[in-house]
Amino acid sequence: MKRIFVLLSIIAFFKISYPQADFKGYDYIKSENLIKTVEYLSSKELQGRLSGSTGYYKAADFFAKEFISLGLKPVSNGSFFQKFLIEYNEIKKAEFYIIKNNVKEKLILGKDYVCRGFTGSGKIKSNIVFCGYGISEPSLGYDDYKDIDVNGKVVLVFKQQPDWNLSPYSKWDPSLRNKAYTAYMKGAVGILFVPKPNAPEKQKPIGSVMDGEGVQLNNFPMLQIDYSVAEELLREDYKLSLSDLQNEIDTKKIPISKVCSTVVEIDIVSEYSYHRTTMNVLGLLEGTDEDLKNEYIIISAHLDHVGGQAGEIYFPGANDNASGSAAVLEIARAFLNSEELPKRSILFLLFSNEETGMQGAKFFVNNSVVPLDKIIAVLNMDCIASGDSIRVGNGLSSPELWKIARSIDSVYTKSMVEGTWAGGGADLTPFYEKGINGLYFVTTNGYQHLHLTTDKPETLNLPLFEKTVRLVYLISSFLANN
Ligand SMILES: [Zn+2]
Repeated sequence: MKRIFVLLSIIAFFKISYPQADFKGYDYIKSENLIKTVEYLSSKELQGRLSGSTGYYKAADFFAKEFISLGLKPVSNGSFFQKFLIEYNEIKKAEFYIIKNNVKEKLILGKDYVCRGFTGSGKIKSNIVFCGYGISEPSLGYDDYKDIDVNGKVVLVFKQQPDWNLSPYSKWDPSLRNKAYTAYMKGAVGILFVPKPNAPEKQKPIGSVMDGEGVQLNNFPMLQIDYSVAEELLREDYKLSLSDLQNEIDTKKIPISKVCSTVVEIDIVSEYSYHRTTMNVLGLLEGTDEDLKNEYIIISAHLDHVGGQAGEIYFPGANDNASGSAAVLEIARAFLNSEELPKRSILFLLFSNEETGMQGAKFFVNNSVVPLDKIIAVLNMDCIASGDSIRVGNGLSSPELWKIARSIDSVYTKSMVEGTWAGGGADLTPFYEKGINGLYFVTTNGYQHLHLTTDKPETLNLPLFEKTVRLVYLISSFLANN
């Protein structure tokens, strides 16, 4: 209730004082500074910032040092790090061949296939077995593994769930680890995922560590392959395109699994740790007003990405989310550079493990360094430097904040689209679930390189990047002072 009152007062004040609000740091936010940080974070040296990796630790150290030089306060037991344990997997070797008519063809990592983040190891030579959606629920009347011997073989399944008749399968865990576990229990020795060919958005082999909870299979390779590779693996035996195969299953709702004649050879080496240390990075700028300094604005972004594979490829994550991370730093700098410091306190926060399911943000809300009921707003940025306009999410759940964003944008940045959503979104979700107001900043049409090796600094839209960061700064400055 008190929070609502504060917000209403902010809006009332805003109407009177706007646009004379004090936005001194605005001009300090420049794309040339933003891009410098993005270039470092997405460099080869940091190898895709997989949480728990050396590259991630370097990124975290970089921010801690910047926070020290800015004079932010370490508020996590006197540290800039909030440490916790996560599971971690390092992919050390990846080789994949198709053997057809005694001809061995080597597939290209990062183009034809990628390893799933939590792939196990394995040296395999076997036939391919196509197993539809990879679902085995005989009691519910559907079993892609019925009457099929997958023992000692590699299965190929659609990555996602069917769209039809989902209710009988609602108990089914759609995570890739669960699909892998199902195949493993049937006797398979490895699994290949291909995205559904008839899905509205085509998906290239993306780097991902979002494999869900469940059993880690240390000796069971899990790969995602390109559509063209799946076509090649199945063509001889099905005489149908991948799209027709999906149509066939979707219309008849009957499995069409089959052992195929094509042979693959796979050699994966990975090293899994159940517990590895990682950290959120955070620094506080204390408010100047005796009372208001006990209220907090959080400016956040996730620092982690999906790492590298086999020493051959890495996912730079320039847009996802070196862009948001760089923004957190430049907004902190803008506040410190402006003549007047904010009245409310501002917590600058970088999350780890967004890419495995928001564990960093979840850990923070359950172990917050500031009282949750004193957090006025969370402004979270995720993928803010590619595309063509600014989308501010969670506006339906935090309409007052959204209106403030809209008003400021209409004068200063003029780049916000109408559309928004409810329910948080990625790292904002754990805050939303605790009843905390917040906005989620992202750009529209900016996902062309998402989780690909091509998410590089040179693909970014720098003027849009700068505008988005300025908008977040203006909103936070407004909230912190009024
Ligand atoms: Zn991501």
